[in-house]
Amino acid sequence: MSESANCIFCKIIRGEIPSIKVYEDAQTLTFMDVCPASSGHALVISKAHASNLLEIAETDLLAVTLTVQRVARAIQKALAPDGMRVSQFNGAAAGQTVFHYHVHIIPMQEGQRTGSHGRESANPQELESLAARIRAALQS
Ligand code: AMP
Ligand code: ZN
Repeated sequence: MSESANCIFCKIIRGEIPSIKVYEDAQTLTFMDVCPASSGHALVISKAHASNLLEIAETDLLAVTLTVQRVARAIQKALAPDGMRVSQFNGAAAGQTVFHYHVHIIPMQEGQRTGSHGRESANPQELESLAARIRAALQS
């Protein structure tokens, strides 16, 4: 069985499990993190399965990076955070829990301490409304 068969992010790409999508193009997909570290936390993934930075093909890495910038600009426009963390983990020892290359975009407010990502589920309606604001900014 291929690695992607049981990969949760590959399942999102194939539409086998739901996600709150923000942006999609031929090589990348962006959706809201279900257990966000802050309000507006989004994940950018490569559509081609690669487990981490060491394995991803250069063209996919480039595409993800360009999408990160595009979505970060839209988040800035839509949610006006004071700053944004962009982070990425490689290997369980580094805190990676989903072994499909992804980049976190985490909006930050002045003085805010981030929660740990992946701990507490957000309200789906709140996530949908944040995603709608980011999608609108992407189109403006
Ligand atoms: P990490 O592998 O530590 O970089 O983080 C994986 C991230 O994926 C965590 O922030 C999780 O909350 C998030 N996550 C896991 N499953 C889903 C899902 N089905 N939809 C959206 N986000 C998810
Ligand atoms: Zn995958």
